[in-house]
Amino acid sequence: MSYLKGLKCRECGKEYPKEPLHVCELCFGPLEVIYEYDRIREVLTHGTIDKRPPTMWRYKELLPLENAPSVGSEVGFTPLVRARNLEKALGVSELYIKNDAVNFPTLSFKDRVVSVAISRAREMGFDIVACASTGNLANSVAANAAACGMESYVFIPYDLEKTKILGTLVYGANVVSIKGTYDEVNRLCSEIAGKYGWAFVNINIRPYYAEGSKTFGYEIAEQLGWRFPKHIVVPMAGGSLITKISKAFKELNNLGLVKNLDTRVYGAQASGCSPIVNAVKENTELIRPVRPNTIAKSLAIGNPADGYYSAKVIKESGGWAESVTDEEIIAAMKLLAETEGIFAETAGGVTLGVTKKLIDQKRIPRNESIVISITGNGLKTQEALYGKLNETRVINAKLSEFDDLIKSAGKEYALKA
Ligand SMILES: *Cc1c(COP(=O)(O)O)cnc(C)c1O
Ligand SMILES: [Zn+2]
Repeated sequence: MSYLKGLKCRECGKEYPKEPLHVCELCFGPLEVIYEYDRIREVLTHGTIDKRPPTMWRYKELLPLENAPSVGSEVGFTPLVRARNLEKALGVSELYIKNDAVNFPTLSFKDRVVSVAISRAREMGFDIVACASTGNLANSVAANAAACGMESYVFIPYDLEKTKILGTLVYGANVVSIKGTYDEVNRLCSEIAGKYGWAFVNINIRPYYAEGSKTFGYEIAEQLGWRFPKHIVVPMAGGSLITKISKAFKELNNLGLVKNLDTRVYGAQASGCSPIVNAVKENTELIRPVRPNTIAKSLAIGNPADGYYSAKVIKESGGWAESVTDEEIIAAMKLLAETEGIFAETAGGVTLGVTKKLIDQKRIPRNESIVISITGNGLKTQEALYGKLNETRVINAKLSEFDDLIKSAGKEYALKA
């Protein structure tokens, strides 16, 4: 049974049928999925959710499909880790990491949005799925299209990390590298979508795609014991994830599933691409596009589609936005790995780096609950760390050389009796 009602313009409120539409014909505002919340309220309880398998589909009433998903039925319900060592390092008392670096199947939060988008694209009769990507979306579209036997076209900026390109090609996707920035890729893809009529998951079927991100928020609340954190820090590229986490919290609150919504939402970007952070700091509604220059390539969107709405949810929640340099990103990637054993990608370095900054600035108090959103896996952005870590120590396979190595490192260990 489906509770998907249709689409609605975020600006003027005009309603549309549940079709592959994304822009309002009256005011050009973005369209958003609406549901039959009154009917959902009658069926969705903690008990019903609790009995379901640990995947993002345990919240299926709040996702925009009319049937069961045709791909990605195992996605989501990634760990929410209590980060005791990182708490000590940052001097805070209640810190959690929501870890989508281990999401299935392609190790980023994009698997959430893609399983929804491709399943919905099939329901609407598309044969070919496509996307404009900064890397993780490419991996996920290629993998999930392969898994459900659809042809895929993936458009990327030519200078992406090698692992993200390889991790797209391996699934047999048609990969097109564009000599330009993500924003130029995106503009071309809008034209291709118009001409060829393919389902571009993050362009012409974006309203459905974006709903998948809400599950990141539902899971956090459930994993905290049906409670909201006081503070959540979220990385921003196009700004969709942060707005949908905020929507997820509001929905849970309105449905009576979680009480007391009082969460401050904070946005994180790299200094080399921080158009949304700039708008928050300058207290303007206008997002000034930038030309990205950062190692956090997954977040390198200079003209973010949901920038305006991101700045709005941040401000309305009483949160803030900050950015960090490439050096700070690398330091934070190392800190997360060394304290919690979690190897996040550059975007994770952005999020933790910004969290640390906000704590230092006293914008986030040390004695309240904080969630850090880790959205992608470090194995996919290894090149950012080349030359930035300790070297391995090379010796011959001789015990005496190992003894010398221990000695030269100034270490002493008790020997076995
Ligand atoms: C895409 C992406 C984001 C942000 O996504 P938006 O919804 O476009 O803001 C964050 N982290 C990672 C690793 C991503 O790939
Ligand atoms: Zn409108």
